Amino acid sequence: MTRMAARKRIALVAHDAMKPALVAWANRNREILARHELYGTGTTGGRVAEGANLSVTRLKSGPLGGDQQLGAMIADGKLDVLIFFSDPLTAMPHDVDVKALLRISTLEQVVIACNAATADFVVASDMLDTAYSPVPGEAAHAG
Ligand code: PGA
Repeated sequence: MTRMAARKRIALVAHDAMKPALVAWANRNREILARHELYGTGTTGGRVAEGANLSVTRLKSGPLGGDQQLGAMIADGKLDVLIFFSDPLTAMPHDVDVKALLRISTLEQVVIACNAATADFVVASDMLDTAYSPVPGEAAHAG
């Protein structure tokens, strides 16, 4: 399980209907986010970079492999937090990729926020700016 440094590696993803909400959220939390290392799926990353004036490393667009690239980063211990404004009302062609991303995030003790309320709690936490290691025995799979 990866130990998280004080400066977090944060991925930002929003499905199309949720992109304006994520840009607004990122704008409101701009100062906090700017202290960390930001990644995003292609379209989301571009929108956040432009709309919130943040530096974001952009991967491929989600449906074209961006979710899978994030999953690979997580498997390699290269991502700490996933802010994922998912759309609960629309069927996605890349639903299997979304599921895989959430599964590997859960397995690897990535901090996951799938809506604005949870994302608010995450950025309000003192733990965002301190190093953290998952507690052995609480994070391990029993199988
Ligand atoms: P996008 O991907 O940021 O490239 O739109 C997000 C997604 O739909 O998974």
